[in-house]
Amino acid sequence: MRPNCPICARRPFFACDPPPFAAVPGAMLAQRFTVRYCPHCDFYWNDSASGAADYERYYLAANKHHARNEQARRLDGAYFRRVQRRIVAARPVRSILDYGSGDLQFEALARERGIACSSFDVGAPSIGRKFDAIACLHAMEHFYSLDTAFGHFRAGLRPGGLLYIAVPDAAGYERTYYGAFNALDLEHINHFTTASLCALARTHGFDVLRSGRADRPVTATVDYPETWVLAQRSARRVAAPAATRAPARSSLATFSAYCERSAREFDALLGWYRARRSAGRGRQLVLYGLGSPALRLLAALPEGSLPDVLADGGKAFRGVDVAGRPVVEISARGTHWDANATVLVVAVHWRAIVEFLAAQGVPSKRIEVFEWGRAA
Ligand SMILES: [Zn+2]
Repeated sequence: MRPNCPICARRPFFACDPPPFAAVPGAMLAQRFTVRYCPHCDFYWNDSASGAADYERYYLAANKHHARNEQARRLDGAYFRRVQRRIVAARPVRSILDYGSGDLQFEALARERGIACSSFDVGAPSIGRKFDAIACLHAMEHFYSLDTAFGHFRAGLRPGGLLYIAVPDAAGYERTYYGAFNALDLEHINHFTTASLCALARTHGFDVLRSGRADRPVTATVDYPETWVLAQRSARRVAAPAATRAPARSSLATFSAYCERSAREFDALLGWYRARRSAGRGRQLVLYGLGSPALRLLAALPEGSLPDVLADGGKAFRGVDVAGRPVVEISARGTHWDANATVLVVAVHWRAIVEFLAAQGVPSKRIEVFEWGRAA
């Protein structure tokens, strides 16, 4: 239980208990969690019954860095180059640590610039030396303990060393393929805006040099709204909690509206799916990029009514065995689509899925779509 704000240590006034946030049985993490919100920092986090050790075990088992294909690696490469340019524009660096993003070419690209680079990820014993800069890219949203990470950052940086953090932008969730706040799942623990990310850095004794919002292209059709901060390790040992005040424009109203809309929409989805299953359709089901609502749908289905073919476009089912059936990822290699059966598709951006199925030989008249987020 982590009821107090990890940034300012105050108690939040708002908490949202699931539903709509739950996971299927068999997951390594606790089935339910509370989403908490700090109005002083405009910061959301998942307060789960799982602890730091549970999350470490989970991430060791569920490392997903290997899943990037050739095209995605090209996009990653362009992104990493942009980040490295931004860091060296602030100050030339001779050494850099890639913290928590695994082996995604960052190291190799840094070396091309003549920068010594190491990686640090879950399970590594210690950082062991000092660097001129640390980059932490799309990892901090997964960290159970922000204090532990910042302890590493201070220990691993020379005085005046640079810290670059990029995370999904909670203020831009409505533009992601998950739809607004569907990323509030078991893995995405921390939900930052630019303001809360900067406040966190200051709280831990970093001076913010620059910050901003951007889009990170993750696939040919999907951009990931992100917020980033470039900060410098200050001479202060550890700062007192930052003097924060209520943000001028809180995202709480957006979040509250999402919770209500999501609950209604989920009821509609469950009814839609059950009606088709009882009519003998929908043994083949594609849940694409839905995050929590997809997990919740599976959890709501009785054992005998689980689909035979279940596809997910991303992370949600990794490490989770749904009734012993293989969970396949949507890819150009295809899967076992039955051209004579109806395929049900539940997604935000469903057109891409329908095109994919057509390319796999599934006639369009055999595809039925539930567009998640249409009420948004
Ligand atoms: Zn706070």
